[in-house]
Amino acid sequence: AYVVTDNCIKCKYMDCVEVCPVDCFYEGENMLVIHPDECIDCGVCVPECPAEAIFPDTDPSATPAWLDLNREYASSW
Ligand code: SF4
Repeated sequence: AYVVTDNCIKCKYMDCVEVCPVDCFYEGENMLVIHPDECIDCGVCVPECPAEAIFPDTDPSATPAWLDLNREYASSW
């Protein structure tokens, strides 16, 4: 799955949400998150993010803390 990280905090762009084919973006406390079980790994959102905040979960930028936070916020809906 793809993961949203700190560059998203307080970002006002929603370009990623608009392109996601499965609507797996959710509102976190001060950022957007991706539901890890709903993301189909298409990668379409990555180039759309002006803050470069989205990484695959295999990337070092997608730390365990960010993985947990994405799951936690996305699951609270
Ligand atoms: Fe949505 Fe594809 Fe991005 Fe996953 S990788 S969040 S399915 S646009």
